Amino acid sequence: MKLIMFGPPGAGKGTQAARLEESYGLKQLSTGDMLRAAVASGSDLGKEVQAIIDAGDLVSDDIMVRMIEQRIAQDDCAKGFILDGFPRTEAQAEALDTMLGKSGSKIDAVLVMEVDEEELFNRIETRAKEAGDSARADDNAETLRKRLGVYKEQTAPVLPFYEAKGVLHKIDGMASMDDVTRQIEGALGLGGGPAPRQTAAPGM
Ligand code: AMP
Repeated sequence: MKLIMFGPPGAGKGTQAARLEESYGLKQLSTGDMLRAAVASGSDLGKEVQAIIDAGDLVSDDIMVRMIEQRIAQDDCAKGFILDGFPRTEAQAEALDTMLGKSGSKIDAVLVMEVDEEELFNRIETRAKEAGDSARADDNAETLRKRLGVYKEQTAPVLPFYEAKGVLHKIDGMASMDDVTRQIEGALGLGGGPAPRQTAAPGM
């Protein structure tokens, strides 16, 4: 199964993707984590993208599409994957569609995590506090405002592309973490819901 976790910063995409990875063996692919690893390694790519990430802007489509194309070709994605933070632009969504289409594959579901803005600010503030000295440079109210603007202008317009394909599922991201997981499992037809009841004997 190939999934996309979609939603603004702080919506819970990473948390829920990690749970799906743990329960169902789908590989979580966080482009933010990949970029932060590149920055930490001091690679040329890391040097190129650090200021962009810290400012809350988007890294170029070219770099991101290449990064994902290489990553999903690896063996650990064979059972499926959950994209967390990609695609973030219409160009990325179209490139993803084309790259999957080459192997006769496609995105099965896009889970859109809906969370009020005020709550996003609370969550990012909490995340920064909990991380202490290792807090992300972009986890502060000012940069979040910028990232939300980028989300509305460049990322949310991706949704109609997937809506037209009939794969969009809206998730109430204001619910508790466990409830959000249950909503996602329900949308995907997974998880521990009650076994289907047999209502009539065959042929009746
Ligand atoms: P995240 O951890 O998903 O919040 O990503 C952190 C930052 O990495 C974003 O604010 C962007 O600067 C960059 N980034 C992550 N994924 C993408 C993407 N798909 N396209 C462009 N930039 C990205």
